[in-house]
Amino acid sequence: IAQLLDGKALAQKMQTELATQVQSLTPQYGRPPGLAVLMVGDNPASAAYVRNKEKACAAVGIASFGKHFPNEATQAEVADMIAQLNADDRVDGILVQLPLPDHLDSVALLNQIHPDKDADGLHPMNLGRLVRTEPGLRSCTPYGVMRLLEAYNLDPAGKTAVVVGRSILVGKPIALMLLDANATVTIAHSRTPNLAEVTRSADILVAAVGRPNLITADMVKPGAIVVDVGINRITDETTGKSRLVGDVDFNAVQSVAEYLTPVPGGVGAMTVTMLLHNTVWSYQQRFQK
Ligand code: NAD
Repeated sequence: IAQLLDGKALAQKMQTELATQVQSLTPQYGRPPGLAVLMVGDNPASAAYVRNKEKACAAVGIASFGKHFPNEATQAEVADMIAQLNADDRVDGILVQLPLPDHLDSVALLNQIHPDKDADGLHPMNLGRLVRTEPGLRSCTPYGVMRLLEAYNLDPAGKTAVVVGRSILVGKPIALMLLDANATVTIAHSRTPNLAEVTRSADILVAAVGRPNLITADMVKPGAIVVDVGINRITDETTGKSRLVGDVDFNAVQSVAEYLTPVPGGVGAMTVTMLLHNTVWSYQQRFQK
């Protein structure tokens, strides 16, 4: 039976360490690190994510400069706020909570964030730095996956890694990070024929698709490390209640894989912590310049 990679425990440990670090740096630098989360509209899932992020900030001593716009906010209003935050010396990280309402151009807004304040690591400059293996802000979810592997001494070097999913948010950056860690990487996606054949070659299998039970036991190499990035809300057939599951058929894969991330409590738990980590990193960079 697979050992679980406990993202929740690692996230808590890292947050405690960040809190200690912030506590010692704040008097030195004369201010705490600052993160601004911008939200537009009333999407309840987004609102919950934003609340979680602000709560986590408070717990480690990061100041929040969030701004919540009504659904009708214009492109210019949000752009003005980003410009103000780019210029605000108290702010080290800026994050636009996605998705935005359809009338807004989210790519234009994300690209307007100053690359040194891009706490989510999704600006073309930071994605370019990742491609070039230069230091920079790294996208939180894939970065969290790498930290989780590291915490369990699971070194990707020399291993075969298969990433299922090719999004800018998860699939592509995690493939690049595994490549930098000297894995031999394959990216599979919706147009990959013989998906099972490809996934069965993986010593490290990362699922980042958004489809419950896509990865079944027969698709997993015995002894593999399986990282489940998917977050899917489903209605449990027996209880009738809604709950979260990943992309991996957890119960079946558990008896084939050697390591497995649970959902919830695996990768998802790491994402917010990496956002805090990025904010503190960018704060330190600012004072060390
Ligand atoms: P996305 O929809 O942008 O990308 C999904 C990818 O899966 C695409 O590249 C597509 O080619 C691939 N795909 C779709 N159907 C497939 C199939 N049948 N076989 C193989 N590949 C297929 O999604 P995303 O933003 O990359 O997110 C993926 C999942 O990860 C979602 O469930 C999302 O909720 C979750 N997620 C989790 C976190 C976290 O913190 N844990 C963060 C971001 C996203």
